[in-house]
Amino acid sequence: MKEMTNIDEIRHSTAHVLATAVLRIFPEAQLDIGPPTDSGFYYDFDLDHKFSTEDLEKIEGVMKQIIKENQAFKRIEVTREEAKEYFTNINQPYKLSRLNDIPEDQPVTYYQNGEFIDLCAGSHVRYTKKIKAFKLLSIAGAYHRGDEKNKQLQRIYGTAFTSKVELDEYLERIEESKKRDHRKIGKDLRLFHIDDQVGQGLVLWTPKGSIIRQELQHFIGKHLTAQGYEQVFTPHIGKLGLYRTSGHFPYYQDSQYSPILEGDQLNDLADQGCSCSDLSKKLNDGDLDGYLLRPMNCPMHISIFKSKPHSYRDLPVRLAEFGTVYRWEKSGELNGMTRVRGFTQDDAHLFCTEEQLAEEITGCLDLVKNVFSTLGMDDYRVRIGLRDPDSTKYTGESELWNKAENALREAVKTLDVEYKEEPGEAAFYGPKIDFVVRDVIGREWQLGTVQVDYNLPIRFDLSYTGSDNKPHRPVMIHRAPFGSMERFVGLLIEHFSGNFPTWLAPEQVRVLPMNPSLNEYANQVLKKLRAHGIRAKIDTSGDKLGAMIRNAELEKTPHMLVIGKKEAEGKLVSARSRLSNEFQGSMDVDRAIEILNLEIQSRSLPNKQ
Ligand SMILES: [Zn+2]
Ligand SMILES: [Zn+2]
Repeated sequence: MKEMTNIDEIRHSTAHVLATAVLRIFPEAQLDIGPPTDSGFYYDFDLDHKFSTEDLEKIEGVMKQIIKENQAFKRIEVTREEAKEYFTNINQPYKLSRLNDIPEDQPVTYYQNGEFIDLCAGSHVRYTKKIKAFKLLSIAGAYHRGDEKNKQLQRIYGTAFTSKVELDEYLERIEESKKRDHRKIGKDLRLFHIDDQVGQGLVLWTPKGSIIRQELQHFIGKHLTAQGYEQVFTPHIGKLGLYRTSGHFPYYQDSQYSPILEGDQLNDLADQGCSCSDLSKKLNDGDLDGYLLRPMNCPMHISIFKSKPHSYRDLPVRLAEFGTVYRWEKSGELNGMTRVRGFTQDDAHLFCTEEQLAEEITGCLDLVKNVFSTLGMDDYRVRIGLRDPDSTKYTGESELWNKAENALREAVKTLDVEYKEEPGEAAFYGPKIDFVVRDVIGREWQLGTVQVDYNLPIRFDLSYTGSDNKPHRPVMIHRAPFGSMERFVGLLIEHFSGNFPTWLAPEQVRVLPMNPSLNEYANQVLKKLRAHGIRAKIDTSGDKLGAMIRNAELEKTPHMLVIGKKEAEGKLVSARSRLSNEFQGSMDVDRAIEILNLEIQSRSLPNKQ
């Protein structure tokens, strides 16, 4: 067990207090485990009574009482037999099961506070009064040992901090993150949809969400063109053999969909008496070549690179694709747009010479910097995953590794952001850079990576002709700096809390005629806006102006154009804006279009909240 920090000890001790309280109220409860987590703690219980929110309040009350009793945490070393007898007698089967996990050569210890004895290796605070600020947060189902085949237990989550102030700040952050939850906002604003009939973890981009994605792809695509990338499109399935060469099959089968067979092949095989296990063996051994729903785009881009001979003068070759990949994730791990089974990476593969490596990596980082600053995400950091020099898991010559690692370091320095080197965190085939962005409420999101790869060029036997007229091996860079469009848009929904800047807003302007007699002029305004490339809609509901404004605000439309009698007569509009100080009051239609287009083209961020 890894050593606990001070805050871990407080949180873990609070979990013991939670268990003590639950047993006072529900003596029949069976207990599993209660470890600290990154943001708090939990304890798992097996109990017929289903915990409710009211129960949490009641349990909290008893916990406060226990803390007041100022119980000491006492460490008691016992023999395996004693522990077995004790937990059998008090009917705690999960504790018995956990007892079996303790290696033979390690001591078995109890920790006792008050009447409660737990099987635990520590460590804890010395007295319960050291727990100054805690809160129970939620109840969830959790399978014993995380295995769906086992019984589902009830997990109570809570958190604890060293002070009340810190706890309050944390609770406020949770409230804020609930409000910003992309699943909620995504549903309210109809940005995306997940449908059980289609499949869990498969995102359906609705018209509004598609606009956001298109705009982002267009924006990133412009940078790629400027940096000399070439855009490609490749299929979503490819032969197993291809993925055997790359090493993605059969090694990562537990995170992939099972292979796909051609036409009626499956029925034919069944007719021949082929069983499921025969089939799986044939596929694994390569006696049968099915297709794989692609887990990675790399082999496709490599095939394009290989489709013609290359001279050193052609390099670097930079192939980019918003490439959709599919991974098998357990249903319990799926989460809105941020943990899915099908996603589109902002992927690219660069094939270059050793000498070009540093500059190419710098180019990748420039793109990230540009996109982040345009979106107002200035708070991010970088991790450089390096090889652990003592480990044997890394392939390739150490001289190449040193070069690549230095190239990454030099490139990261140009970013002028906080970075940390992490030895042992490299992929086995090369070092990498990860991006971690901190959002407005202080949560961290791991985005994509830039990875150097010496392995795939060998596996696919890639080469180019050097100036010496001899064949040389290119180096590959994989980069998907924003990870996937799904995850990135999920993050952006939370980052902007649904209030997208005008260039990303699905609906940029809403025209509001104050009564139906003004619809004709309002429609002329609408047409003119659309003709100028502005995404506009009209509200012809005939509702009162206040109601129409409220609706537009609820749907987070950044700008409104109110059309009254005066406006229709003077060929004017009356502007209202959530984002812009300039876009206010009565003005000419052309002037309104000019202001909007300027704001859209400059991708300006809201200057008014
Ligand atoms: Zn403990
Ligand atoms: Zn790749």
